[in-house]
Amino acid sequence: MAGSALVTGSSRGIGRAIAKELAREGWDVCVNYIKHQAEAEALTEELRAMGRRCIAVQADVADEAACRAMVRQAETRLGPVELLVNNAGISYAGLFQDLSAADWDRCLAVNLTGARNMVQAVLPHMLDIKAGAIVNISSIWGLRGASCEVAYACSKAGIVALTRSLAMELAPSHIRVNAVAPGCIETDMVRVLGEDTVRSLIEETPLGRLGQPEDIAHAAAFLASEKASFITGQILTVDGGFIG
Ligand code: NAP
Repeated sequence: MAGSALVTGSSRGIGRAIAKELAREGWDVCVNYIKHQAEAEALTEELRAMGRRCIAVQADVADEAACRAMVRQAETRLGPVELLVNNAGISYAGLFQDLSAADWDRCLAVNLTGARNMVQAVLPHMLDIKAGAIVNISSIWGLRGASCEVAYACSKAGIVALTRSLAMELAPSHIRVNAVAPGCIETDMVRVLGEDTVRSLIEETPLGRLGQPEDIAHAAAFLASEKASFITGQILTVDGGFIG
């Protein structure tokens, strides 16, 4: 199966690797970004050179109307979305007592409500055809909890509940919903933590390295594929053994 896929937050990092892996597997891809248009456009060129149809759409996943408009664009230009990857995410580091209400709200709005907005936008077609796959990107911090990243951990724990609950609700319609929970992956989100923190994260990772975006892309592409046709409601941890 390879129709049209939409990967949120695919201008950089993990989302970019997922978009490339899906294109390699034959999917046409709608790339999404919020700020980095040049990176998103460069990726669409790469995917087109691989023989895929591809568009880049700017949309804030926290904005429900923008999500619906993006899905309409994808449907018009690439055909109905049969695979949604909810990858767009932001993180906040800092003590909980210093976390403002606005930062808490924004973190939940992008990381959790964003996934809700996107699922609601793609569902009508998936329900019509009684098929489709959704892959959400959670985090080990959503499973284990994270000191100094409470809002982020809560948003990612919400993604776990969203995944398991939707999997149950949508299984009778043959729509599969799974998630990947990455460990520490070498992207801008982790680079901003600084060298010392990154070194200690590597030390805490039994496999002794940061994950690469491709490590997550392979897991996401597997969950999206027919090879995973009997898998739904699962959270696949890809963390080099970090949470054991
Ligand atoms: P990243 O390098 O910071 O990239 C974030 C991506 O999300 C960018 O493409 C960005 O677009 C996009 N984005 C941010 N806010 C958005 C919004 N409101 N609407 C649409 N797109 C938005 O992050 P990453 O490390 O690849 O993380 C990708 C996902 O994996 C996130 O959900 C993150 O929480 C999760 N994750 C990452 C790690 C890790 O160690 N890196 C670990 C666990 C989970 P622009 O380029 O336009 O800014």
